[in-house]
Amino acid sequence: MKAIINQLVQLQELHLSRREQEAGTPGADLKQLDDSIAEMMANLPPEVETQFSRLLQKNPLAIVPAVEGTDKSYICTGCGMKLPISLKPQVVAAGRICTCPSCARILFHSEGGARNTRKRGGHRTAPKVGIERFSVEELMIPALKATDRKGVVLELASRMRDAGFVDNAEKLAEDALSREAIVSTSVGNGVAFPHVRCVEGGALTLALGLSPEGIAFDAAHPAEKTNIFFFMVIPTAASAFYLKLLAGLSGIFQEEAARRKILDCTTPAALWKTLVALTKKALA
Ligand SMILES: [Zn+2]
Repeated sequence: MKAIINQLVQLQELHLSRREQEAGTPGADLKQLDDSIAEMMANLPPEVETQFSRLLQKNPLAIVPAVEGTDKSYICTGCGMKLPISLKPQVVAAGRICTCPSCARILFHSEGGARNTRKRGGHRTAPKVGIERFSVEELMIPALKATDRKGVVLELASRMRDAGFVDNAEKLAEDALSREAIVSTSVGNGVAFPHVRCVEGGALTLALGLSPEGIAFDAAHPAEKTNIFFFMVIPTAASAFYLKLLAGLSGIFQEEAARRKILDCTTPAALWKTLVALTKKALA
């Protein structure tokens, strides 16, 4: 059953990639993704396929990690509920399909993932609006030092760690690269949205890095250069919202004038100010 669980996790990533493509690149050719999805679905045992499809109709996430909480409880990251402790050995063993008693999602065991350690602002802090809900000036890198895909992702993840937003930059970068391997997050026009989903805790966090010379980021189109990288860490609960944010940002940066304004920035302060101004209307 472990192999089937792994297959479900991959299949869900394909489904999510498809929704991301629809959100980020309207009109994109989805045939290759659709073929891969149909092939994997056909390989599932029929009863698992039915259960999985039914869950996917209700929510973008049908299978979610179960993780150990700080108080040794065992938690469904899909709904945040504590799971019966007797369920843990069964989820770990993966001998059968285990589901969360409160949200019905299929569970898989996860440990050692990167955690979002972002502290919530105190009650004195004024409520944040727009892009300020997801990012800060410290997460702006106007000139990335990296020169390849792996380097870009690691540099952005390391910046998040150094600014105190996540605890394990290497693991985060590794997960973002696995996601890129399914289908590139490049949306064309030199813009890409590398990301990691199902990160535990905190809130959706975004870092922005620029590569003025451009990097060959999309493995399927090695001649294309990407200059603008939005790197996002997405908690399980924000998976549906993420698609809206992606569509918003992708729409803004489809305009050449917006890309030029961003690429003209040479300091973190200028980059942050420009990002806030450009996204104000769409992300209000
Ligand atoms: Zn649940």
